[in-house]
Amino acid sequence: MAVGKYRFSWKLLGDIQVGRPNLGPTTRLEVYRLMQFTMRDVLERRLGAEGADEVFYDAGYLAGTEFYQHVLGKQESFADFVKALQSALKELGVGILRVEKADLAAAQFVLTVSEDLDCSGLPETGEGICVYDEGFIAGLLDGFTGKKFQVKEIDCWCTGDRTCRFTASLSG
Ligand SMILES: [Zn+2]
Repeated sequence: MAVGKYRFSWKLLGDIQVGRPNLGPTTRLEVYRLMQFTMRDVLERRLGAEGADEVFYDAGYLAGTEFYQHVLGKQESFADFVKALQSALKELGVGILRVEKADLAAAQFVLTVSEDLDCSGLPETGEGICVYDEGFIAGLLDGFTGKKFQVKEIDCWCTGDRTCRFTASLSG
């Protein structure tokens, strides 16, 4: 594949202090969702729903590994990892993370995210929408453990639940 124009690097997030002296680092959630759901619409039309999901999952995965490296930094224990992640996600307004189940020996986890950035308050469609989050969590777990995870959303605001619930286990 040809090298793209914008291969991701953390630098692409820019120097916000210099760039937005008056408006600062925050925006309104509608703007984020407007971008996400128009992007999804175009991707679905070009690639089909499954292909669009794959793009969102892979992008989330990349974000998760980068987020681990640049925001959380190396974490020594699972407890430290969860604590750092919970406070970062809360501080950045991404969501409220809870760990419902953690079987470290089997590498199986159940996590919930409430007030999620992507789906809280959306119409109920009967289908989970947080594919980017699935990838994001998988990327974070990969960052922490060095292993490949597969993450699946089993409950979502869009399936009538009031929190998003994800299962994570080693992939393959
Ligand atoms: Zn969801």
